Amino acid sequence: MEANADPNCVFCKIVAGQIPCASVLETDEALAFLDINPLARGHVLLIPKRHAAKLDDLNASQAGGVLRHLPALGKAVRQATGCQGYNVLQNNGRVAHQEVMHVHFHIIPRFKGDDFQFNWPAGGYAEGEIEQVREAIRSALES
Ligand code: AMP
Ligand code: ZN
Repeated sequence: MEANADPNCVFCKIVAGQIPCASVLETDEALAFLDINPLARGHVLLIPKRHAAKLDDLNASQAGGVLRHLPALGKAVRQATGCQGYNVLQNNGRVAHQEVMHVHFHIIPRFKGDDFQFNWPAGGYAEGEIEQVREAIRSALES
């Protein structure tokens, strides 16, 4: 297993070859394979080989080693499936619908008329609130 692997993690087991997967891309740092329960044909998962539960558990270089493959994967999925578009989704935490606690990016082909619906409950900001939120995030970035 990789250094830092979690022996109970299904994606670490895939990286270690203990569970099979339909892989489409593999480098020293990253692995991409077909999701076993796809939202559409050609639904791909891209993961770092090293175990990390959430995106912000990776440093910038580790994240870059995975994210650098997204453009080529998106293009390949589009060409291979003939989809008209695709979503890249990345869930962090149970509240955000993360089931497997090993960072992964979903690449989900989209077809006109498919029944994959987002509930996107867009809101707004009260007077002055956007500045407060902006400052909170900017100072968190600096700390
Ligand atoms: P998430 O809800 O973002 O944590 O998504 C986890 C995804 O992992 C789901 O779409 C599952 O279908 C997928 N998954 C779980 N186990 C496997 C596996 N052994 N091989 C491929 N995909 C898997
Ligand atoms: Zn893992």
